[in-house]
Amino acid sequence: MAALNLPYEGKASDTVLEHLEDARLLRQLAYINGKWVTGTEDIPVINPADDRVIGYVTSLKKSQIDNAINAADKAFTKWRALSAEQRATLLMAWHDLLLANKEDLARLMVLEQGKTLNEAQGEIDYGASFVRWFAEEARRAYGDTIPSHIPNAQLATLREPIGVAALITPWNFPNAMITRKAAAALAIGCTVVVKPANETPFSALALAELAERAGIPAGVFNVVTGDAPMISATLCASDKVKALSFTGSTRVGKLLLSQCADTVKKCSMELGGNAPFIVLPDMDIQEAASAAIDAKFQTSGQDCLAANRIFVPRDKHDEFIAAFAAGMKKLRVGDGMRKGIDLGPLINHQAVEKAQSLVDDALEKGATLVMGSPHNALKGNFFNPVLLADVTPEMSVYREENFCPVAGVIAYDDLDELIIAANDTEYGLAAYIYGNDIRDIWKLMRGLEFGMVSVNSVKMTGHPIPFGGMKQSGLGREGSRHGFDEYSEIKYYCLGGLPTASGC
Ligand code: NAP
Repeated sequence: MAALNLPYEGKASDTVLEHLEDARLLRQLAYINGKWVTGTEDIPVINPADDRVIGYVTSLKKSQIDNAINAADKAFTKWRALSAEQRATLLMAWHDLLLANKEDLARLMVLEQGKTLNEAQGEIDYGASFVRWFAEEARRAYGDTIPSHIPNAQLATLREPIGVAALITPWNFPNAMITRKAAAALAIGCTVVVKPANETPFSALALAELAERAGIPAGVFNVVTGDAPMISATLCASDKVKALSFTGSTRVGKLLLSQCADTVKKCSMELGGNAPFIVLPDMDIQEAASAAIDAKFQTSGQDCLAANRIFVPRDKHDEFIAAFAAGMKKLRVGDGMRKGIDLGPLINHQAVEKAQSLVDDALEKGATLVMGSPHNALKGNFFNPVLLADVTPEMSVYREENFCPVAGVIAYDDLDELIIAANDTEYGLAAYIYGNDIRDIWKLMRGLEFGMVSVNSVKMTGHPIPFGGMKQSGLGREGSRHGFDEYSEIKYYCLGGLPTASGC
């Protein structure tokens, strides 16, 4: 075990330290203006695999949140004045450190979040890819030149960083949901105050540790921890915070939007999903079932892109159910740190209760239990996957974002009805289509009210694509060239009184 020279030395459990090559990646204090800061009390961080405390984070006072905002505001002047090239060099140093420490970051994530080590390693790659992307993309943050309608004038736009951005993130992707925001904000010249979920603060604090090592100046990247409603309200109310980017539930997103109204902040929201997974009549059923299993059970179903409602043609229904059940049987539930595990634990007891309540509600309302137990027989936060057939719109499993390994299958008869059914939700994040006939695929593609539609591929996300939802799944896009829009303003300028072109 490596020796820790930290204020909280001795408080972290040996289990965590045993898993880390570099024990200094486990930071338990908040990070403000380049300093590690203690708050008023400690909040335990729990390993969902065994409910044991793995360490603590500090709960900051309101005045300390104000300090973080002030530090970010002060740092903004110098940070924005750097060239895109200079910021890119620092971001690439951060990116390289993320990859160099991938194994430690992944293990830390498994311990606080519960996902499998494979999934966590994949998330570190995914998270780092946004840092590289935006470091490169900032060099191409072009404006436009505009053919002038005013005599003797030149018209153009330039893109300017908006200022301090508050980034509030969830526990299901504790690394990538931060880098997808922070990389765009920092690359374009903003400074940030990050508020991670209290369930998974260590991934965020390790990002701060590595940002410091990369040479990112004090005040540019800050991480605050503690009471979520107080911190969020302080960030939303501040005039100095010019943008809020939130990833989390639609319920909290709506609350934060209302809190940002007073200061007319630029808000981007990555909220919940209720993804339809649609199997078309000409699709190979084995292939579709195998893809649906991947799309349903990644991160134990705790994924905003998870297949929430699986629509299958009625005459292929039984074949699909059999294939899905056969594939599901092979899934192994257990501690994400162990080899060969497909599904780690759910995040906490409430998540297990919610999963059970979805199953209870569906069975009461007439769903058929095809596989799994009506009462989860596993201990702690583990939940055995469940397959339900005959799911109807009256059931919560159809209406709500499941966020658990409960799969619901719905038979359909006709494509027009299918489109209406798939759109029958307030959410509009992602949809999957599996099929061959391009006319059917195109009809669905245009008819589905979802921000992202993936055809014959479970993998759809990544740094070059605009990630985001329609309807109550959110506002704005992350990643891609559009990712800068949330952190910048378009400034138009008119240079008048110029000599006419012929006189030049
Ligand atoms: P959540 O409960 O909405 O929490 C998200 C963040 O908001 C956390 O930092 C949380 O802090 C904070 N928060 C919670 N209650 C708050 C309140 N009353 N006032 C202010 N802040 C508050 O969401 P979650 O359970 O962490 O994450 C799951 C949700 O995120 C799902 O709906 C999922 O679909 C969504 N998600 C969306 C995307 C996307 O890109 N669209 C990606 C990933 C996840 P504490 O944890 O400290 O309470």
